[in-house]
Amino acid sequence: MQHTQYDAVVVGAGPNGLAAAVTLAQQGRSVVIFEAADTIGGGSRTAELTLPGFHHDVCSAIHPLGMASPFFRALPLSRHGLKWIQPNASLAHPLDDGTAVLLSRDMQTTVDGLASDGAAYRRLLNPFVLNWQPLLDEILGPLRPPRHPFLMARFALLAIRSARGLASSRFKSERTQALFAGLGAHSMMPLDSMLTSAFGIMLGSLAHAVGWPMAAGGSQSIPAALADYLDAMGVEIVTRRRIQSLDDLPQAKAVLLNTAPNQLSQIAGSQLPTGYLRKLKRYRYGPGVFKVDWALDAPIPWTARQCLEAGTVHVGGTMEEIVAAEGAVGQGDHPERPFIILAQHSLFDSSRAPEGKHTAWGYCHVPNGSIVDMTARIEAQIERFAPGFGDRILGRHTRNSVDMEAYNANYVGGDINAGIPDLRQVFTRPLPRLSPYTTPLRDLYLCSSATPPGGGVHGMCGYHAARVALKRSLR
Ligand SMILES: Cc1cc2nc3c(=O)[nH]c(=O)nc-3n(C[C@H](O)[C@H](O)[C@H](O)COP(=O)(O)OP(=O)(O)OC[C@H]3O[C@@H](n4cnc5c(N)ncnc54)[C@H](O)[C@@H]3O)c2cc1C
Repeated sequence: MQHTQYDAVVVGAGPNGLAAAVTLAQQGRSVVIFEAADTIGGGSRTAELTLPGFHHDVCSAIHPLGMASPFFRALPLSRHGLKWIQPNASLAHPLDDGTAVLLSRDMQTTVDGLASDGAAYRRLLNPFVLNWQPLLDEILGPLRPPRHPFLMARFALLAIRSARGLASSRFKSERTQALFAGLGAHSMMPLDSMLTSAFGIMLGSLAHAVGWPMAAGGSQSIPAALADYLDAMGVEIVTRRRIQSLDDLPQAKAVLLNTAPNQLSQIAGSQLPTGYLRKLKRYRYGPGVFKVDWALDAPIPWTARQCLEAGTVHVGGTMEEIVAAEGAVGQGDHPERPFIILAQHSLFDSSRAPEGKHTAWGYCHVPNGSIVDMTARIEAQIERFAPGFGDRILGRHTRNSVDMEAYNANYVGGDINAGIPDLRQVFTRPLPRLSPYTTPLRDLYLCSSATPPGGGVHGMCGYHAARVALKRSLR
């Protein structure tokens, strides 16, 4: 550390911590960041998890929100090394008849592939595809009266519904229903739950509006670009420094925690009112994940060859199967046939694997804190749509939910969103306050994905928290 006193200290060098630091440094404030791990990046890191030369995204892998984020878009990240790669198609969803539904960047191509549901699909998503920027400004913005009330009313009326309810009412074919259910399952909530449609509509619209890109060289390139920019602005980053108490920090006018609420209690507990701590304890975390990374001898042998066009593949069959899998997780069970979100980077980014070899990345949802090994169930699901997959595996690396939390303390019980994004919690996380980034300590803020707008690599939580800190503590 170069100084004993700073304008602001940020605890945690995840995408939101880095975004907070950027926002503060851009306003000329002195900032230091402390990161517990050896490297920066939080949930956006890349590592040789399986065999030498195979570069796997440890957590985040596909970045529609990163690409669309109003904050990232305003930064010169390409000058600091970030390059997005767009797969030929955003998403493929294979089915048992040997075909796949393809979500292409081009609306017409997607509509053509949906046959009789094509027109209904276009009617549902097109208003949001055409207005994606104002929509995102609202959804990723601070809670306030909408600036685009008609657009938001239209979105809200659909988004509030369950993904299963909306898909059943809008689409006739099993294929389109399966596609929408897979998108809705990114909510990590049972698909009968309110608000799961919001995820389907947002991710579907972004697939057409900006695509579902991956970062060239690995997701680590995103925090690396942010850190390079921070370095140019003179911000210090100290790694291998786990903060356990506010007393561990140098003097600063503002402290921003890129942590989950449980660590807010631990780090500042002795100074926070007991009523606030009691309420924080009741914060609800969502299901965990079980993740597998594979080193492969060749691409995945999908029966539906179109799957090789897509960066992401949803492996789980029909809507009813996905509903059952996610419903089981919601009940605290481990589904026999889990729904898997799979990414195949090396098909589009040759830097991820040695020549001729490939990587695959996949995870399924499991109950919070699960230690059940889901490898065989996940691989059986992939084998179902890609017979011979098992023969191509050269190496694998797995992490259950408890391992996930050990890897990154923000994934409490393996919850990669740092809290359930349901109606009761999504807008007011971690607790209802005029500004959710503030705490009862005037100059202490929370800036992680446990604040609005929530999970994903977009930096918006950090950006909003830093803006509040600038107004309150750093005028
Ligand atoms: C398997 C998996 C798949 C995912 N897929 C995607 C995806 O494809 N696309 C996407 O957009 N998002 C994805 N995500 C979610 C995404 O990774 C997170 O939403 C995002 O990283 C949250 O950013 P953050 O900055 O709030 O927190 P984090 O990225 O979790 O960063 C928090 C940082 O703070 C550090 N820290 C915590 N406590 C302390 C302490 N006491 N002292 C010092 N440092 C501390 C941690 O070590 C960590 O580096 C995925 C996550 C996982 C696990």
